[in-house]
Parts: sequence; structure tokens; C-alpha cells
Amino acid sequence: MSFRLTQRLRREGVPAERVSAFIERVKPVLGERCSTRFSDLVSYSRDYWPISLHWLLKGEVPSLPDAVVWPESTEEVALVVSAASSLGIPVYPYGGGSGVLGGAVPEMGGVVVDLKRMRSIRLYEEDFIVEAEAGVNGYYLESYLNHRGLTLGQIPQSLYPSTVGGWVATKATGQFSTKYGGIEDMVLGLEVVLPTGEIARFPPHPRSSTGPDLMRLFIGSEGALGIITRVWLRVQPYPEERILQSFVHESFEEALQAVRRVLARGAKPAVVRVYDRIETKRHFYAFEEAYGKVLTIVILEGSSEVVRAEAGILEREMGGKPLGEEPVRHWLRTRFDVREAPEFAPLGVVFDTIEVAAPWSRVVELYHRFKEAVGSVDGVLFVSAHASHFYLQGACLYFTFAGVPRGDPTEFYNRVWDAAMRATLECGGAISHHHGIGRQRRPWLRDALGGGYAVLARVKAALDPRGVMNPGWGA
Ligand SMILES: Cc1cc2nc3c(=O)[nH]c(=O)nc-3n(C[C@H](O)[C@H](O)[C@H](O)COP(=O)(O)OP(=O)(O)OC[C@H]3O[C@@H](n4cnc5c(N)ncnc54)[C@H](O)[C@@H]3O)c2cc1C
Repeated sequence: MSFRLTQRLRREGVPAERVSAFIERVKPVLGERCSTRFSDLVSYSRDYWPISLHWLLKGEVPSLPDAVVWPESTEEVALVVSAASSLGIPVYPYGGGSGVLGGAVPEMGGVVVDLKRMRSIRLYEEDFIVEAEAGVNGYYLESYLNHRGLTLGQIPQSLYPSTVGGWVATKATGQFSTKYGGIEDMVLGLEVVLPTGEIARFPPHPRSSTGPDLMRLFIGSEGALGIITRVWLRVQPYPEERILQSFVHESFEEALQAVRRVLARGAKPAVVRVYDRIETKRHFYAFEEAYGKVLTIVILEGSSEVVRAEAGILEREMGGKPLGEEPVRHWLRTRFDVREAPEFAPLGVVFDTIEVAAPWSRVVELYHRFKEAVGSVDGVLFVSAHASHFYLQGACLYFTFAGVPRGDPTEFYNRVWDAAMRATLECGGAISHHHGIGRQRRPWLRDALGGGYAVLARVKAALDPRGVMNPGWGA
């Protein structure tokens, strides 16, 4: 059987003699943990970027690397990076590959560094700090902590396939973020292999005032400024009590205002999710009282005294009609179910999600303008949203769209993204709340950062003078 595979994005090749020189340098240390087998190269040619599923159905992958390595220590990562850097070979860090924007795609070839063999955990129980190597799996870390009466509180929908290093690199956030914050609120210390191969350590402290917080440069850097090898994270006692509650409101606006009142009174629910009418119907079709309305689910958790006080605030401020625990239990049972994108792609349906954020003063405007802009792209079947991460200052809107393109799916996909990103920028919103930039969002990065783009470019040039780390990202 013949098998032909096209590389959709591959922009430049690395000369074969340089790849051989790289392998000669690292093979004596890594042995079988350095591979150029075709099956390995194909496996690391993509992440979870939904449009790449459509390419795959046509025998196309985003881009093949020239080699894949699986280091087991920071020193091995440093060896790989310094060898690649001295030879001018691109380096692409790879965690769980659950990124949804093509961030880990080895666009220029070179070497993919899979961190998953770096998976040790150490707990400093008295200090409420856990130290995890970058490749530690998210679910494994949370289970490890739960067995010891603790929680990190970072539960992204991709808990099972993602890694700690990936969370920090993408500035990820989880379903329980309204209480626990995003990963940036949890990181106390970091260890990074810089693009030159040097190792930088930012040790953990409860707080420090020793110059600018340089560690934060690497949170959200998506592999473009170095490879995160170790992270120190703050942990919390496992909640003593949980209270589940749900409400129906007549409109999305009304429900958002109710949540704003709850937060303004000082309550911090772990989970708050407000589903617009379409999403209420999609996700909660079994609950008749919610038909044609907007459903909000809430989870309060923590020590009993605090949670009960918060429940009082919820009861006073939420308004609408309480619907009890059952819709929340339904969400808890189904919250990791993400079958739609892979199921729809073979049917020719393009399906994706786009998360943005705005302050309270613009969030409703953003909701309507985004829906209008995306909904008017030819071929779009529906656009829906829920608000899922809340702050005293505003909220994240998490949109879902599906469409049947008349022509090329990629062209259709990019038209939808363009409409979405423009509407967000026009409303003064953040173009990404937690998925990051990757390859899909790069056309709008300059506009989103404004004068900050030049700062990013200078930091990148200073840390990575040979431009080897994740080239193509953000460019
Ligand atoms: C079904 C599904 C649900 C999701 N839900 C959420 C969610 O609830 N919240 C959320 O925030 N995200 C979510 N995501 C997106 C994704 O899971 C996150 O971005 C996650 O943090 C990526 O982790 P990863 O280990 O898979 O990273 P990868 O996909 O492997 O890499 C992501 C980026 O980080 C870089 N990178 C990875 N590891 C390192 C490292 N050690 N050092 C430097 N750079 C590195 C890569 O080069 C790439 O640019 C979801 C994705 C899917 C598929």
C-alpha cells in the first residue's frame, strides 16, 4: 500500500547534515530516546488544532519534525537545546499536545522535545507547595494531591491529556478558576532552559520584591522563550464542603449581572457557568424548566463556614429561579466529554471554540457583536456561548461555532476567526482568555499587544538571538 503525506505548513527545511550533526551530539546520552522514525515524526506533526483534523482527512499533516527527543532531566533538556541552538536547528517543546491553536506544530522542522518523561513530583506539605517536573500529567498531579488532602484547583477540560509545563507555557486556566485563579496565580517558582541551553531557576517564595518578576516572562511564552522544566505551585487544602446550585434567568445579560452582584458581595464560587439559550438547550436538554431560558450552574467549595456564608450571598443576589443540584451534577458527569470536533470533521462540518474576555462594561456588547460577526460568515450554522471564568472586573466568553464551508474548510475557518478576532478587538476585549496564541491567532497578535509587541520582539531577540525556540510562533 502506498502512503502519501503532505505537509501543510512546513516553511523551511533543516539541511540533512545539520540534523545528522545534532543527532551525533545527543545520541550518546539519549540513545533510543532520540528518534527519526517516520511514525514518531508523524505523531509529533500536530497537536489538537481542530482545523488540522480536516487536513488529516485529506492526508495532510501540519508539519513533520526532523527528530523527536524524550529527555529525562533538566540537564538532558539543556544538552538538547544547546546542541540545537549551536547548529541553528528549531526546537519545539511538546507537553500533552492538547493545545488547540497549533502552538506545538514544528512548522520549520527541527527537533520536537517531548517533556513527558520528566514526571517527578515532590510535596512540601508544611509550605503548601508542590514541585512538579514539566511533563507531569495534569490528572496525575491533581490525584496525587487529592490523596494527600490537597488540591491545586487547576482543572482544565483537558486535565487528562495536558501537562504542567503546557499549562504554564499557555497560561492555562481551569473550570474552578473563579475561586482558585489561573495557573499564573499558582506558580511560585520556575526552572527554565533558555534558548542558549543555560538553565535559569526562579526559586519559590511566598512573595518577593527582588527586582522585576522575571519568572512571569515565561508564563504564557508558549515555548518561544525557553523550555520550562520544573514548576513550584501553591496548593490548598481539599475542600471540606461543596454546595451545588443552579438558576434559570430570562436572558444572558440578566444572569451575568446576577453573577456580578454575587462577586461584588465578596463570594468566590469555584465554578460559575452561564449558558446562553442555545447552549442551555445543547447541554441541558433534559431539564424542561430551562427550555428557552439561560441556565447558570454554581459550585461553592471550601471550609464549611465560608461556603455557607457564600450560599447566603448566592441566595440573596442570584435572582431568577433556583433549579437545584441536578443540572450541576449533570455538568460534573459530562464536563470532560469533547466528542464534537472529531465526530463532525468527517461529515465536513467545521467546529471550534474561541475564548475571549472583556470587562463588565463591554461584555454584553462583545457577546452580541461576536455572534453577529461570526454568524454572518457564509456557511456558519450556529454560534453560541457560555461565560465560564469570572472576575470582579469582568468575564471570559467561550464561544462555539459550527459551519459547513461551501469551498475550502481552511478558508472558511480563517474567515470565521477573522470576524471573531476583529469583533473582539473592536470591543476592547482580550483576543484570548486561556488558549493562547499558537499559530491560529498570530495574525492578530500585533493589534492585540499594541506597543507591547515591540517589547515582546526585543525580549525574544535578547533571549533567543538565533531564533531557534518555536520559530513561527507569534510571527
Ligand atoms: C478538549 C480540550 C479542552 C481544553 N480545555 C482547556 C481549559 O479548560 N483550559 C485551558 O486553559 N486550556 C484548555 N485546553 C487547551 C490546552 O489543553 C491547554 O492549552 C494546555 O495547557 C496545553 O498543555 P499541553 O501539555 O497539552 O501543551 P502542548 O499542547 O503540548 O503545548 C502547548 C504550547 O506550549 C508549549 N509547551 C508545552 N510544554 C512546554 C514546556 N515544558 N516549556 C515550554 N513550552 C512548552 C508548546 O510548544 C506549545 O506552544 C483544552 C484543549 C482541549 C483539546
